[in-house]
Amino acid sequence: MTDGEFGLIRRHFQTTDLPAGVVLGVGDDGALLTLPAGHELVVSTDTLVAGVHFLPDAPAHAIGHKALAVNLSDLAAMGATPRYVLLALTLPQLDDTWVGDFMSGWRALAVRHGVALVGGDTTRGPLSITVTALGSAPSGAALRRAGAMPGDGIYLSGALGGAGLALRARRGEVTLSVAQLSGAQQRLDYPQPRVGLGEALRGVASACVDVSDGLAADLGHVLTASGVGARLDLEAMPWCPGVAPDDDARAAALSAGDDYELCFTAPSASATAVQALAGLAPVTRIGTIEAEPGLRLLRADGSRLQLTREGYDHGAA
Ligand code: ADP
Ligand code: MG
Repeated sequence: MTDGEFGLIRRHFQTTDLPAGVVLGVGDDGALLTLPAGHELVVSTDTLVAGVHFLPDAPAHAIGHKALAVNLSDLAAMGATPRYVLLALTLPQLDDTWVGDFMSGWRALAVRHGVALVGGDTTRGPLSITVTALGSAPSGAALRRAGAMPGDGIYLSGALGGAGLALRARRGEVTLSVAQLSGAQQRLDYPQPRVGLGEALRGVASACVDVSDGLAADLGHVLTASGVGARLDLEAMPWCPGVAPDDDARAAALSAGDDYELCFTAPSASATAVQALAGLAPVTRIGTIEAEPGLRLLRADGSRLQLTREGYDHGAA
């Protein structure tokens, strides 16, 4: 590590106003952290690579926001309360302005959710960002992909397909109004992790996942883990403004990633509790869990829409 790197760490990553749970933060060989009594540690990590997960020329502020947001979204899907984060940053050069902008996007979101940056690593190389998020949930209360039962309602927060719409517009595949384009672009660049909703789903949801790779793919993980199938009602889906009411546009929205909404299931006995979540986020019932394996997408007339490609599989690309 060079003097330049130490200076960068001091300027951008070290902070004095740390929450009570941090015994020791940035600056030593490791951080010392505590958890509330009776809680389990929930840990998740995600990497963003320039040119794969964001455009290399994307604003640093948006990249900083998104690197943290996608990790907080994983904690939200687990029903965890975010507490601490680690940031491993690989940079082509030590660009103080770029890191400053990156951290200003990061910090705005971190402050909103009360998460403390407690360590990380700074290295040189092609631009890549790995974040590890640590949260907590009362022992036994964290949400999982397994647990959905036949008869459970399937619910989705927010709207579907906005981030994918922004990418399609850039490729010239769709034409959007100015308002639709700016809304979609905002969804792509500044996804808002559903942290409060995830916490409130503890004891309410039977299974939960965040929509990072596309609803069809991510709900598919819930179905596999739970050993069930599902029926989705395409007319009930909260399509993002700009998603056209035709099969092509809807199939693209169901397969598009990067929305970072929560998709969860809940038994009918929890319907009132689900309704009470409306103050935290818009929540729409989009379908029902069934015993028969597989995902069935039903149009208004009861006919089925077949997806050719479920989500975006990074491994198969
Ligand atoms: P070591 O060589 O012992 O791994 P480093 O010299 O890499 O430690 O880092 C010094 C301190 O700065 C450590 O506490 C580390 O967690 C922190 N740090 C380094 N890079 C980052 C970063 N990108 N974000 C947050 N903390 C960082
Ligand atoms: Mg060390």
